Amino acid sequence: MFKNDVIELRQQAFVNGQWLDADAVEEVVNPATGECLGTVPQLNSAQVEACIAAAEQAYYLWREVPVRERCGLLLAWYELIMAERERLARILTLEQGKPLAEALGEITYAASYIQWFAQPSLLDGGATLPYGETPLSMLVVKEPVGVCAAITPWNFPAAMITRKVAPALAAGCTMIVKPAPDTPFTALALAELAQRAGLPAGVLNVITGDAQQVGAQLTASKQVRKLSFTGSTAVGRLLMAQCAPTLKRLSLELGGNAPFIVCADADIEAAVDGAIAAKFRNAGQTCVCANALFIADEVYQPFAERLVEKVQQLRLGSGDQTDVTIGPLINRAALHKVEKLLLDALTKGAKLLCGGKRWQSDANWFLPTVLADASFAMECVQEEIFGPVAPLVRFTDETQLIQQLRQQEAGLAAYVYSQDLKRIQRFARELEVGMVGVNTGLISDAAVPFGGVKASGMGREGGRQGIEEYLETKYIKLSN
Ligand code: ADP
Repeated sequence: MFKNDVIELRQQAFVNGQWLDADAVEEVVNPATGECLGTVPQLNSAQVEACIAAAEQAYYLWREVPVRERCGLLLAWYELIMAERERLARILTLEQGKPLAEALGEITYAASYIQWFAQPSLLDGGATLPYGETPLSMLVVKEPVGVCAAITPWNFPAAMITRKVAPALAAGCTMIVKPAPDTPFTALALAELAQRAGLPAGVLNVITGDAQQVGAQLTASKQVRKLSFTGSTAVGRLLMAQCAPTLKRLSLELGGNAPFIVCADADIEAAVDGAIAAKFRNAGQTCVCANALFIADEVYQPFAERLVEKVQQLRLGSGDQTDVTIGPLINRAALHKVEKLLLDALTKGAKLLCGGKRWQSDANWFLPTVLADASFAMECVQEEIFGPVAPLVRFTDETQLIQQLRQQEAGLAAYVYSQDLKRIQRFARELEVGMVGVNTGLISDAAVPFGGVKASGMGREGGRQGIEEYLETKYIKLSN
């Protein structure tokens, strides 16, 4: 087990190019052991105001920096992150708990957003319109939105930051990031590398403090023109309401409840592998994680048997130990939620095929669990589980299944396993979600638009679309 005394943790906030302390601090714990890793400052409201002012001042300089120079600085940041990948991954595992191999994967994935958005060509979206009385009299230009704020979650402490910061900075915006209180050290380590890469003061700020207070200040501020939030639907709703008085631009990436559908003609082995990847990655704590698994009657039994076999091969443990494939849940509250959903399912007739209980009472581990005979009446099918529990729902009628899935609140992702093109096209078209994985359990990539519909939020991260979130359109009429 590595200790925090061998990994240097930045325990200060980063504001206007300076490392900042505060009167109060908050502890950060290792979810695998419960030990305190260190503290971060709880910035007071005057410090948060000063940060907003600094980000605004920096904005008017940063937007004038030529695009290629901005992108060059982003690339320098990318290179430093890749060079420090191992150290960053260790910090990530310490505070978040995911296995080191997954943490290394996340750092590479996080860096890939910076590399992607460092392409100047993503910003050449203006136009000259041919409708004026003279040529070149009607111009459409893209401008940065201004000062942006990002409130990010603990499940991907690096990637959820870079997929917001990189497009914002490329576009010419400045950014204030408030990371999750469970995982601030990865964010601060990224800020340190951004500073080393030469980003000017105030362009990227990482602040720590009371979520409600900081959130209220960022959302109320007139200087902050946009909020990008990834987290729960409940907090997303609250922040959207808080942004209403200042009519802020919003990107919201909220809860998911991705159905994982296995049709009668599916390749069962591939579907089981896809289910393991989509369900149990990050101990099930991913917004695009498969939630409930819907299995065609014809293949239900073989799929369930094979899934249980593979699930039983998963190895729980502290993320820094080799061969561990499932780390702890982030905290006690997450553990209690999983237990509550499980109890509801068992009370309503689900049957436990494996797992179903805690592993080692003093930490936040939950055994990977498969539940048979799940149904739409159960909370674990209606709600995002965010834990290593796979409820299996048997289906016979695809039309009915699509109708039932359309009733669900969330609309982030869906997975479909089938060899039949017509079926695939039908599910892909008719499911009301932002992303569909066909015969794959892994869909994310910096080059594609990630995001949801309905209660899963608005806006897209990654792809060409990701930069639009940080740009305004201005029309200019030129007359003689
Ligand atoms: P989860 O339940 O997965 O922790 P949350 O939506 O509570 O997800 O948290 C996501 C992010 O939102 C975290 O950075 C958290 O600190 C922040 N957050 C939680 N509540 C508020 C709030 N009332 N105002 C602003 N930010 C908040």
